[in-house]
Amino acid sequence: MPENLPQRYLQAVADAMTVLIEPGGFAAATTRFLGCLGEAVEVARAYYFENDPGSNPMTCSQRCEWVREGVSRELHNPILQHMSYEDLFPGMLATLSAGTTFSMLVRNTEPPLREILEAQNILSIALMPIHSHGEFIGFIGFDDCDTERIWKDEELESLRAAAAGLGSAIMRHKMEESMSARTEELTMSRRVALSLMEDAQKAVAASEQANTAKSAFLAMMSHEIRTPLNGVIGFTDLLLAENLPDHQEELVSTIRSCGNSLLGLISDILDLSKIESGRMEMEMLPCSLREGLREVLASFEPALRSKKLTLTSHVGDAVPAELVTDPKRIRQIFFNLVGNAIKFTSEGGISVRIDATAPPGGRLLLDCEVSDTGIGIPAEEQQRIFEVFGQADPSIHRRFGGTGLGLAICRKLVEAMGGKISVESEPGKGTSFKFTIPAYRAQKSRQAEPSEPALRPNGFRGVRVLAVDDVPTNLRLMTGILKKLGCESATAADGRQAAQLAEEGGFDVIFMDVLMPLCDGLEATRMIRKLEQENAARKPAYIVALTADAFAENKTRCLEAGMDEFLTKPLRMDLIRAAVQRGIKMAEG
Ligand code: ADP
Repeated sequence: MPENLPQRYLQAVADAMTVLIEPGGFAAATTRFLGCLGEAVEVARAYYFENDPGSNPMTCSQRCEWVREGVSRELHNPILQHMSYEDLFPGMLATLSAGTTFSMLVRNTEPPLREILEAQNILSIALMPIHSHGEFIGFIGFDDCDTERIWKDEELESLRAAAAGLGSAIMRHKMEESMSARTEELTMSRRVALSLMEDAQKAVAASEQANTAKSAFLAMMSHEIRTPLNGVIGFTDLLLAENLPDHQEELVSTIRSCGNSLLGLISDILDLSKIESGRMEMEMLPCSLREGLREVLASFEPALRSKKLTLTSHVGDAVPAELVTDPKRIRQIFFNLVGNAIKFTSEGGISVRIDATAPPGGRLLLDCEVSDTGIGIPAEEQQRIFEVFGQADPSIHRRFGGTGLGLAICRKLVEAMGGKISVESEPGKGTSFKFTIPAYRAQKSRQAEPSEPALRPNGFRGVRVLAVDDVPTNLRLMTGILKKLGCESATAADGRQAAQLAEEGGFDVIFMDVLMPLCDGLEATRMIRKLEQENAARKPAYIVALTADAFAENKTRCLEAGMDEFLTKPLRMDLIRAAVQRGIKMAEG
């Protein structure tokens, strides 16, 4: 053996350490590291064992091995896996884990260690403990198969330094492995999240498409159902204006009231679908809540009178004369609640109250209540009634009719406006619905609403009206109503014919259907307005859209096309009269 051994060993350890930090796979680097040491120390084998995590009593397994040419490889020897320290050599675990090196001649060992070592032709062995962060994690071993080598302390000390280096490398490798597993995990979760997002986007797109289809279907249905209903309700109106014998008048009134309930039901279903598909347009307008409530309550006067019920209403002083909210929706909520209160009460009365509080932030919170002394609602049914088609019990439908849509609409409207609705009730004593709605104080005083123009002394004699509709029943009904009002009327079955007749001129008011084949009402209106511009001498006609499609975007389209106002079917004599009056007023003014 050469003289300057410690230096040679130290140099070998230094070289081995450099190899260990070279780029490349960890297994290849450790094999090179062991080779570097093994060659320098001139042994047959160099290897390392790692303690098996969680083993008790502690066991170890061979992980990596370098062998000199011609020496048997033992890495895959099953005996060298999961070996128990204490079984091998009593005190071996204590020695190594205390950081002490371990060397011996094989002939001085006892079975089973001796048998294991002899089977590998080992004559002398040296083991260096590996520690990492103070923890004993395994050992490096050197086998001499040629001589019974007695290991010198300084040799063992140099090799112990190599074991410490390997300890750090093993730890670093484990951390890198767990980091790359974590990175892999993160990449995986990112991929999953991306694919979920993609799925969600697809689902949203599909549901948007379905929503659009649903809206188109609803608009269509609204048109299709309102058109024949228009005929039913309109003609019964005309019939009722004739002097009918009493029993016939009763029959016709029943037809009209059935028609009106059917219309109410269609409007409810439409409303509900619009709210559910997020297409309900809320309109924030300056308005008077007192006026709105008065109108709602006035419409129930006949019902209250016939059931001999009392009605009290109170609007608190804190409610400003004018505020900004959605008056139409609030009216709709009161209309439903008061209607129910009357329906489910046979004795006593109804009371309606509106108060306001001013939470910080400049808003107002309207605090509304509709109570009655009616049949009440059992506690277990009080939540269900706010659901679609939720009636308190099956007998309700038989006794009182209804569909169970009203309260579902009320709840959705209140919530869409940012408020809450609740019910308190005691069967046999009565029910009280309370709801809150945020509103704002009106900034400026509202301009006075234009009052309905007064009827001209000679009625509508001489007023020329053109009715445009592709449905003959509607035209017949319009002609009937206009005749009753005393107007002169002409009819057109489509937009093009309407534009031709308008060119010949002289119409004060045009009632224009919107959905028509060939040339629709929007196109016809644009043509008429163009003709009027070209002929400055001509007085522009007052064009009223008359449509079964009650969607607000349809109204906007009509006004943009040049129409003056927008009425929805079914045709009602009073609405037609008011529209004609406004038309005349505009022409005169
Ligand atoms: P509808 O009145 O058409 O059945 P609503 O959604 O308006 O539908 O009401 C749902 C149910 O709630 C009613 O069927 C009835 O059972 C119960 N209800 C609503 N208002 C009252 C009330 N004021 N008194 C007693 N029960 C009521």
